[in-house]
Amino acid sequence: MPSSPEPGLASNLQSVRSRIDAAARHAGRDPAGVRLIAVSKTFGADAVRAVWAAGHRDFGENKVQEALQKIQETADMEIRWHLIGHLQSNKAKKAAGAFACIQSMDSIDLLQRVDAAAVEQGTSPEVLVQVDLAGEATKFGADVSGARRLLDRALDARAARVTGLMLIPPWNEDQEQTRPWFVRLRELRDRWLADGVPAAALRHLSMGMSHDFEAAIEEGATIVRVGTAIFGKRTVRT
Ligand SMILES: *Cc1c(COP(=O)(O)O)cnc(C)c1O
Repeated sequence: MPSSPEPGLASNLQSVRSRIDAAARHAGRDPAGVRLIAVSKTFGADAVRAVWAAGHRDFGENKVQEALQKIQETADMEIRWHLIGHLQSNKAKKAAGAFACIQSMDSIDLLQRVDAAAVEQGTSPEVLVQVDLAGEATKFGADVSGARRLLDRALDARAARVTGLMLIPPWNEDQEQTRPWFVRLRELRDRWLADGVPAAALRHLSMGMSHDFEAAIEEGATIVRVGTAIFGKRTVRT
């Protein structure tokens, strides 16, 4: 059973959008430079449909299987799907055909599989390199040096287009405790830009979720991934 969506999805979306705008302005940034991904995991296609009807086009899922079903059920709608959860190599082929953006790229092997599948299928997915800054054993993502090697390899990809970095920081309820991780990802991006990595490959910083997207935007996020604040509490474990 999917989690049941809240009745006020359109107004939730509206309120998240205005909080994004306020955070961007507060930081002296253009709100148009922040892309909102509505994270629909555990919610059904009906919830996606309601948020889509309110004008939203970017949706995120963390599991390939669940995403593929939802993508099929919403095939009549123009949607950019983002994969934000770990991608197993045996699903690389399906992911290369289904997602506009794979935000959880964390190994050269996976990149090569996705790229080869994208060439074969004539797709050109965006990829973000997921960086594990905290060295958390329970999380996916590449450590800093691995992420740099992956980024350098991704510049030579034939079909996949690397456009930035993604971060899932250690959980903390208080966004001020999480803010230093956002700063570190931005500083890493700036260091690599100074090293000569092309700006197009480092355009995006995907960081910030329901409870901390404002701090993330103040620290330079160009993509925020918001589930709970739009769809309500998940009643299904992910
Ligand atoms: C679930 C999820 C989110 C959204 O989390 P909320 O707290 O519900 O906004 C963002 N990023 C990733 C990687 C997720 O798995």
